[in-house]
Formats: sequence, C-alpha cells, structure tokens
Amino acid sequence: MKIRIIGVVGAIVIVGISLAAIGQKRSTLKSASVNASSRSAKAISDAVFDGKKISRSDSQWKKVLTPQAFNILRKKGTERAYTGKLTDNKKAGVYACGACGLHLFSSKDKFDSETGWPSFFQVIHRENIEEEVDSTLGETRTEVLCARCDSHLGHVFDDGPQPTGLRYCINSVALKFVPAK
Ligand code: FE
Repeated sequence: MKIRIIGVVGAIVIVGISLAAIGQKRSTLKSASVNASSRSAKAISDAVFDGKKISRSDSQWKKVLTPQAFNILRKKGTERAYTGKLTDNKKAGVYACGACGLHLFSSKDKFDSETGWPSFFQVIHRENIEEEVDSTLGETRTEVLCARCDSHLGHVFDDGPQPTGLRYCINSVALKFVPAK
C-alpha cells in the first residue's frame, strides 16, 4: 500500500515537472517569435513601404517640420531653384522623405539636370511613391508624393536620362539625406 502511494505521488510529481517544462518552452518560443517579428518590422520600416500609412493633422506636422518644409511637403509648395542644400550633393547615401523618413531615392540614381533641383532617374522602390495628375499652373504635370505620409515631393517628367528616361525633380527641403555608412 505504502509503495503504491509513493508510486502515485511520484507519477504526479513527474507529470507536473513535464508540464512546467513544456510551458516554459512554449513561452520561450513565443517571445522569440515576437522579438523576431518586431525586429524585421523595424528593419524594413524605412526601406520599403509596408502599406501602413502615416496620417497627421496640419498642427501635428507643424510641430515636427520647419515652416518651409511644412509649406512644401504639406501644402505642395516649391523651393526656389538653386536654393536647396541637396541639389549639388554628391555624397553616397539615401534620400529619405523629409516628413516621415521613408527611403525614396539613392545617390546612385542622382544626376545633374541643371534645373536647380535634386534630380533622379528612378525611385529606390516604386511602391515608396505615389503619383497624381497635377493640372495647376496651366499645364498637366505628374506630381510625386511619399506613399507613406502623402507628403508632396516634386514632379516627374519624361525628359530624363537612360535607362529610364525619367527625371524626378524633387525639392531639397522635401528630402532628408542619410549618408552611407
Ligand atoms: Fe513620407
């Protein structure tokens, strides 16, 4: 009888330890997968648009942008030609959205268009920008906007160099230059 009781108690203890071990393993796996997914989300957040839009009111944008940047990015303004800091920038790096930081253009695709604005012949990832027909100023142009925060960046024309034949004419103030490491 005594041996039987010891046997039952022993079995209960063994089952308890096994369940605790399984629970521990599950929670470790769960936290590892959460860490991995938050890491990868962070890693791709500024490189390729993931479909998650950023929406802020004018007053919220005014808190994080200079008055000139607000006027260009949020009110579709244009900086005066040859006044932007990045027009003649020849350093290697990435040109990100001046409002939200999404990567837009690479220094490898920049060229001197002699227009007085930073010019690129292609976008870093097509999904990072949106295009809209702009019929202001008595002509039809194609406006370029940040896909994530809908900020105005500039316009795209079809008189650029090969291999694309495109000229993305972008306001310096609408861009934030991130030097290559
Ligand atoms: Fe943006």
